[in-house]
Parts: sequence; C-alpha cells; structure tokens
Amino acid sequence: MRIADLPHDAQQGLIPEPQGEMYYQCLGCGREYPADTLLYTCPQCKSVFMLHDRNAQRLRNIPGQEWRRIFDYRKTLSEPSLKGIFLFHELIAPVIPLDKIVYLGEGHTPIIKAHPSLSAEIGATFYFKNDGQNPSASFKDRGMACALSYINWLVDRLGLKELLAMCASTGDTSAAAALYTGYLSGRVKSAVLLPKGKVTMQQLGQPLGSGAKVFELPGVFDDAMKVVERLAEEYNVALLNSKNAWRLKGQESYSYEIAQWFDYDTQNLAVFVPIGNAGNITAVMSGFLRLYDLGIIDALPKIVGVQSHHADPVYRYYLEPDRGKRVFKPVTVQPSVAQAAMIGNPVSMPRVIHVADEYEERAGRRRIYVVQVTEQEIIDHMLIANRRGHVVCTHGGECLAGLKAAIKEKIIPPDEEAILDSTAHALKFASFQDMYFSDSFPPEYEVVPRKELQNRPIYVRPARLERAPGEGSPLTPEEFEVFVSETVREVAMILDLKKKSDEQGA
Ligand SMILES: *Cc1c(COP(=O)(O)O)cnc(C)c1O
Ligand SMILES: [Zn+2]
Repeated sequence: MRIADLPHDAQQGLIPEPQGEMYYQCLGCGREYPADTLLYTCPQCKSVFMLHDRNAQRLRNIPGQEWRRIFDYRKTLSEPSLKGIFLFHELIAPVIPLDKIVYLGEGHTPIIKAHPSLSAEIGATFYFKNDGQNPSASFKDRGMACALSYINWLVDRLGLKELLAMCASTGDTSAAAALYTGYLSGRVKSAVLLPKGKVTMQQLGQPLGSGAKVFELPGVFDDAMKVVERLAEEYNVALLNSKNAWRLKGQESYSYEIAQWFDYDTQNLAVFVPIGNAGNITAVMSGFLRLYDLGIIDALPKIVGVQSHHADPVYRYYLEPDRGKRVFKPVTVQPSVAQAAMIGNPVSMPRVIHVADEYEERAGRRRIYVVQVTEQEIIDHMLIANRRGHVVCTHGGECLAGLKAAIKEKIIPPDEEAILDSTAHALKFASFQDMYFSDSFPPEYEVVPRKELQNRPIYVRPARLERAPGEGSPLTPEEFEVFVSETVREVAMILDLKKKSDEQGA
C-alpha cells in the first residue's frame, strides 16, 4: 500500500529518517567507540561490544501504543527497505539511511501452531517460529541483513573499495554472509572459513554457489574462529562473525516479530532458543528488553536456552544457582546433530551474562533458564514434529526436546505458551535424517534410531517383468501394460487398498 492511501492520522512516523548516534560499548572495561569504524573487540582489553544508540532516550517520547501503531501500519507499506527486519528501523540501526538497506526477503517468518496431537503429547500449547524460511534458510540472515546494510553505508562514508568480509562458521553464517555479499558484488566480497567435514553438504554448497572464497580447515569451529580473529587483527578485513555487534542488532528482529505476531501480549509467553555461540539468545533477550523499555510490551517473556549434552558450557554455567559463584568454563565438544550449535567456547558468553542479569533485574524475578537435552532426544523430536506437518531442523527438535525437559522441571506451567525457534530449514540437516533412516550414525553421536520413526523408500519392480522402463530400449505396448498392471497390483497390496468394485458390492 502507498502511504498516501492510509488514513491521514495513520501516516505519521511511518517512513523513518536516519537518526541517532550509535556507539560500541566494551563489556570488559566500559570504554566507548564510535560505530562508524570497523571494530569488533575492544582494542584495550579484547572484550566484546554491545551496540547502543546514544540518543535512545528520544524514542521514549513516543508512547508504546504509538509505536505499536507505527509498526503495524508500516507493515502494510510497499516500501522494500521496510519489508524485512528494518520494519523495526528505529530499534535496530536508526543511523542507516533507507537507500543503503539490503533487503533479500529476510524476517517475518511464520509462527506455526503445533499440531494438536503433538501439543497433547508434549503437554503444552506451543508454536514453531520457522526461521528456516529466511533466504539462506536460517536465522543468520537477520543479522547479516543488518551487518551488510551497515557495511553498504560505511563503504560510501569511508570511501572504501571492494571491502573483504570474512567469517568462520558452523555452516549457516557463511551461507548467509556469502549470499548478502554476493548481492553487494563490486562493493564487498567475501571469504569464509569452515571446519572441514563439520558442515553439511548443503551448507558447503551455499557459499560456493554464492561465489565466496571458501577455505576448509582441520579441527572444529572454535579452531577456525581463532584463525579468522587473527586475520581480522592483522589485516584490513570486515569480520562477519557474531563478535560483530551489528549482527546481534539484526537478530533482535526475532523478538520484535514475536511481539507483533501476538499483538504485543507477551504476558504468558516462553521463548525457547538453541544456544551455540550465544549470539542469538543475547539478541532475543535484548530485543524484548528494548520493547519493554519503550512500553511496547507490558511483560518480559520467559527465555529458555537449550543445549545438547555434547556442547553445554552455558547450561553448566547456570547450574550454579548463586550468581556470585558462577564460573564460566569452556568445554570440549562432541559430535552433535544440532551441528550449528556445536560450540564449546561461545563468543558471546560475556554478553549473555550481562544481558541476562539486566533482564532479570528489570523483570524483578527469575526469567532466564537453560536446559540440557540428549542427542537422541534432539533428533527424535525433530522427526516427531516433522511427521506432523512441521519443517523443523535439528535445532528446532532441540527446542522441542527442551520444552519437554522444561515442563518436567516445572519451568513451564500448563497455562504458558511456548515459542520454539526452528533456526534453520529441515533440508539443511537432511544428512542427519539420512543417517537415522539408514542406521548409519557413527557411535560418537550416541543416537540409536527408533524403528517407528525410521522411513525408507520401497523399491517396486515386479519380478515377472523382463525389462522395466529406463532399462534399455523402450518397452513394447504389451510389456508396458504388464509393467503398469503388475506395479499397480504390488503397490495396492503393500498399501492394503480395497478395490472399488469390492467396496460397492459390500
Ligand atoms: C548459528 C546457529 C545456531 C546457534 O546460534 P548462536 O547465536 O550461535 O547461539 C543455532 N541454529 C542454527 C541453525 C544456527 O545456524
Ligand atoms: Zn575494553
């Protein structure tokens, strides 16, 4: 819809002007740095940053009810730059002008109510938010849309030529980075570092197809991360890992969309997020905090992080109930079907601790939980969900297993509704489903396929037939007739079909 077609009093504030002043704040020493520099960690103390808007106070002059009107009417506009995560421009990166925004169809992913029988089985009302329906098929596009819009703006501002953007990745970050830099060809190019053999075939194919330089390294993600960090320290490259605070700003859109979807009623919601590098859970908490601060929502929803027993450093950290006694210890990871979360030393751990404390302080009560699930539970729950019409990835399965664990631990009461993050599309992790269906899981995954969840294709080739279609020269009409009738007989027998005439006669 064109803005002029809206009622006059609805038009106010719908097209955002670039405004505010953003700066990085170091979580270690508190120093501040201007945000129009390519900076990822504090030059003084090496800690990670949070990204803030210095004049955020001005947004408080607009009442929450007014913000809700702006976001809801803005959603009807046909302005491409506001179609994705930048629908929430003022909350994400208000310094970026609309003509620098890169929009490739990210965000506004659907929230699907769980199949009733699945709800009954788990014992809760819940929804999947299908973030696999983003352009590169994972939530990473939210952060990348923001980081690359920022870089697109900065390239002009600083007069840069063909900036090289780099990241290490468990697969999805590099797919998203390569997609967005591909769209900025001529201004930005990208190189990605992947742990060899630790990403799925689909995840390797994505950056290759988008034309990025792809490097494979021995080891796991944590090792590749060290290499890319050193590269960014010593050379002039833009880092697209989740150290990049702009990515987290983009990922806050996940929370804004949940609030909008539920008409800003977040009173009874629990939001489940799988934790890997812990960037996403940080962004989700920050997003809800932002909405709460501006009076856009009246309650901070419960946040439940989920980790596999094969990569659970955040879970272990929060096992200690006494805040003062908690100590963070990285863990050595074991193979996980929730492969994108197979991280033993999360880059954003200091951010999680900082934002979770603020979240609970503002809420005035316990709101953040982390639960642990097994590899077996993760993949079983993915399959159980997908057999009922969902399209969740292993991490979506991890969230569902996490919901079950949270109900058992009485973290989720019966009247609360849960939103589970299916962070990627099921197809990205199809290789794990294959291993499950063909009984070929290497023992270190600790997954034993359950017969009732396995599914295999049935090859039908009638024994009576000498030649079948495709096996040499074309069949004669007689041979073809035999092929059709014999195949029909066999398929009908396997499916136990009743003949029409039999039914009518009965
Ligand atoms: C990156 C990723 C995660 C983990 O998110 P973090 O921000 O690293 O905690 C989970 N699922 C998928 C599909 C991912 O790509
Ligand atoms: Zn510092």
